[in-house]
Amino acid sequence: MPASQLYDNHGRPITYLRLAVTDRCNLRCFYCMPEEGIKYLPKKQLLTFEEIERLINILAQMGISKVRLTGGEPFVRTDLMNLVRRIVTIEGIHDLHLTTNGILTAPHISELKSLGIASVNLSLDTLDRERFKSITRRDEFEKTWGTLQQLIEHNIPVKINAVVMDGRNIEDILPLVELTRSHNISVRFIEEMPFNGEGNHYSTLNWTYTKIVNYIREHYPNLERLADPPHSTSYNYKVPGYNGDVGVIAAFSRTFCGTCNRIRVTAQGVLKTCLYDDGVLNIRDLMREGKSDAEIKVNLLQAFNSRALNGFEAEEKRKSGSPAIESMSTIGG
Ligand code: SAM
Ligand code: SF4
Repeated sequence: MPASQLYDNHGRPITYLRLAVTDRCNLRCFYCMPEEGIKYLPKKQLLTFEEIERLINILAQMGISKVRLTGGEPFVRTDLMNLVRRIVTIEGIHDLHLTTNGILTAPHISELKSLGIASVNLSLDTLDRERFKSITRRDEFEKTWGTLQQLIEHNIPVKINAVVMDGRNIEDILPLVELTRSHNISVRFIEEMPFNGEGNHYSTLNWTYTKIVNYIREHYPNLERLADPPHSTSYNYKVPGYNGDVGVIAAFSRTFCGTCNRIRVTAQGVLKTCLYDDGVLNIRDLMREGKSDAEIKVNLLQAFNSRALNGFEAEEKRKSGSPAIESMSTIGG
């Protein structure tokens, strides 16, 4: 049964779900969560795999065709591959993607390939072991690097996510661009967002997307602007003659809201129709109260029909204060 297409109240199609399978993580990236004192959700508050499968089935019937599993670190749920095996069989889901820090990923790469994973986003902010340690507060660079090599060997499309941080990894921007010389991968530089779980954040950003692009262009004057795919969150570029490409994501400046086709479900099953809202529907509770699929669809439709126009409106409407009280690991980055 083909799904009917979903549109929000601003006429934007909704086709893409990003789902956090856990809020737990084996790294402590300073832009994402505090070093200590993290209160993880009790396990019973997380969506079970059965609930996730049911939710994706419902959303697939409503028009979602692309799913990304994220977190927290998805692979700290040790049976994650059981979920992956189930999702690839769901009718209507054409693309399954993963975002991972690569620490526990390598043993699963062959199977991910054979299950037809559409792409893997690998978080790698630096190519220097000491800086990796200082940013993530763990000495695990070699594992992430090994995962990158294996993903490339298995011919799985790879996007490297690198958050650009003033005073932390500016010296890594050019070496990361250089990775695209011989490898057909995308390296995406992301503006640092306020979701660090610390409760405080700056109101302006030094390394904005324009500054990042200008910096790259200073070193690669022939940097070529590529056409951006529909619903792309990145401005895309290529160094002529290089195999891969480079993207810059204005995640703090929020320039991409007009074409946003994505929704998020947090680790505890709360729907966010914008990254910057503070949750608009608790789907887990609806399921656990015994609501039918049809009843859940009605609730979802209501939420999609009252979606904020952009991230600024969503942030303004928050009831729970600054986005900085949230960690990207709970939201699902
Ligand atoms: N643990 C996995 C990983 O790191 O790839 C998946 C979850 S992580 C929250 C998803 C993405 O969010 C990562 O690429 C990470 O760099 C990005 N992220 C986390 N906090 C961020 C922040 N404050 N600003 C920008 N990006 C952030
Ligand atoms: Fe963990 Fe990913 Fe957050 Fe880093 S960005 S702390 S790897 S969830």
